[in-house]
Amino acid sequence: MKKTTLLAAAAALALTGGFAIGQTPTPAPATAPAATPTPEEAKAFIDKAETDLAKLSEYVNKASWVRATNITEDTMWLEAKAGAEATTLATDLAVQAAKYDKTAADPVTRRKLDILKRALVLPAPQRPGAAEQMATIGSRLDSIYSTGKFEFKGKQITLNDAEDVLANSRDPAELKAAWEGWHSISPVMSADYAQLVDLANEGSRQLGYADTGALWRSGYDMGPDEFAAETDRLWQQIAPFYKNLHCYVRTRLNAQYGDAVQPKTGPIRADLLGNMWAQQWGNVYPIVAPKEDASAYSLDKLLVEKGYDPVKMVKTGENFYSSLGLAPLPETFWTRSQIVRPEGREVVCHASAWDLDDADDIRIKMCTKVNAEDFYTVHHELGHNYYQRAYKGQPYLFKGGANDGFHEAIGDFVGLSALTPTYLNQVGILDKVPGTEGDTPFLLKMALDKIAFMPFGLMVDRWRWQVYDGSVKPADYNAAWWKLRTQYQGITPPGPRPANAFDPGAKYHVPANVPYTRYFLAHVYQFQFHRAACKQAGWKGPLHRCSVYGNKAVGAKFNKMLEMGQSKPWPDELEAFTGERRTDASAVTEYFAPLNKWLIAQNKGQKCGW
Ligand SMILES: [Zn+2]
Repeated sequence: MKKTTLLAAAAALALTGGFAIGQTPTPAPATAPAATPTPEEAKAFIDKAETDLAKLSEYVNKASWVRATNITEDTMWLEAKAGAEATTLATDLAVQAAKYDKTAADPVTRRKLDILKRALVLPAPQRPGAAEQMATIGSRLDSIYSTGKFEFKGKQITLNDAEDVLANSRDPAELKAAWEGWHSISPVMSADYAQLVDLANEGSRQLGYADTGALWRSGYDMGPDEFAAETDRLWQQIAPFYKNLHCYVRTRLNAQYGDAVQPKTGPIRADLLGNMWAQQWGNVYPIVAPKEDASAYSLDKLLVEKGYDPVKMVKTGENFYSSLGLAPLPETFWTRSQIVRPEGREVVCHASAWDLDDADDIRIKMCTKVNAEDFYTVHHELGHNYYQRAYKGQPYLFKGGANDGFHEAIGDFVGLSALTPTYLNQVGILDKVPGTEGDTPFLLKMALDKIAFMPFGLMVDRWRWQVYDGSVKPADYNAAWWKLRTQYQGITPPGPRPANAFDPGAKYHVPANVPYTRYFLAHVYQFQFHRAACKQAGWKGPLHRCSVYGNKAVGAKFNKMLEMGQSKPWPDELEAFTGERRTDASAVTEYFAPLNKWLIAQNKGQKCGW
């Protein structure tokens, strides 16, 4: 997946949130506040900061784009240089912003000061050379990941190839080899990673945060501890359902592979779930499909049969957003995006959405394949682009998602409608909508992706929070990773891990330093959005059959929320669209309720859990 959700808007998004952009060192003397700066000084500081940030944003974004779509020694150098300048400015501004902590600034300025303080995902220490050092390490880690190859059956293969093996092979020895092979690219990262952790913590402490994990947890209009407790509360809403799904899938894998490969009890072997990180399990649907599933259709096959190509997939995605009343994508989107993997050069294939000029130069970067997964990913990535364009009228520091979970949830919300048989039929991909007998197969497929993802979405940052607060030391990085993977996901590696293993590094968002809790949140928000939108549309049937395709009233209300960017606390924005002020996973369990009932019946007599 790259999958989908996780596909994140890598660097590009991190930059546009108001982050890395920067330019020359700021004018400390003129605006440097005295002991207690006045509200007027605070506002003047913010005005200047927004101007400086906007100025360099385009330069930094272009350097990143060029590196991501053509990885060479030179483009890595350029990106690192631009990134270091940006980091230096953003760090400088964050440190200055902290000096206004006691100023009685007006609410808008106060919000912008807070955003500025946490603008950097990894703040650099304020000493000469630190920002450059961090940028160099960051670029190196990302490139090791993106260019990672290993030997498999006598030839060098990429992650893309390895993912195909994980998705399609049913030979446990082959699966294990592909899984272990990909995880062999990351041990070389661990020393760099540990150094980056130290540097970022030093930078975070200079801004007044306990550590970088606390900084990350501060972006949700509540205290860091309160936020951690919120994610626990949400997981408790979902965990019983996850356990039922895990139990059912384990039974079917056991039937497929036998006790020696997948025992009937305990954790599931990570390489048997169809995905390199066991984060989405849709690829093993054929193994776990309900026995009575006669109605099933394969979106993979339908797309090929109907003559879809990558560009047509993206056009179809655009058409959905247009049906909600949103303006078409600009011409430059089509001429500047990377929609397919180019020949003859190294690129970052991990799908992402970009906003190069903080206005209209929006693009996606994908290595699109004609299959159901990328059909969904297209809708996901475009959601970022439409959000970016909707809030382009906001001041620089308010150009961002209400929180980072919102940014990931926009396209996923649209995807929930776009995957329904109702919609696929409306646009001519599916000839006949199955009756209720099709509900269990459909919901099971959705759960294999959406519900299977949730514990992974939670544990990645649980691991990083422990790494950043020092409770997990470099020597224990890998053991702590697997402890959490077993605890939350109920999975285990296919064999003993080598002493030098650094398995977190084999997941893009770790070497790329993209926070991950946003994807967990997005998996809750998208269902909340969906439930609210279906209600607005007057939908009376089960949630999983609802499509809001073509509903301009829903689109107008939705766009109102998008246009707010991050100008208001997220509960205000959530309320604007859904009428609810709290994150609530009951929309998730409501959507999947018929499947949960079915799973409980299937699991009768099994000893669930691990
Ligand atoms: Zn994304």
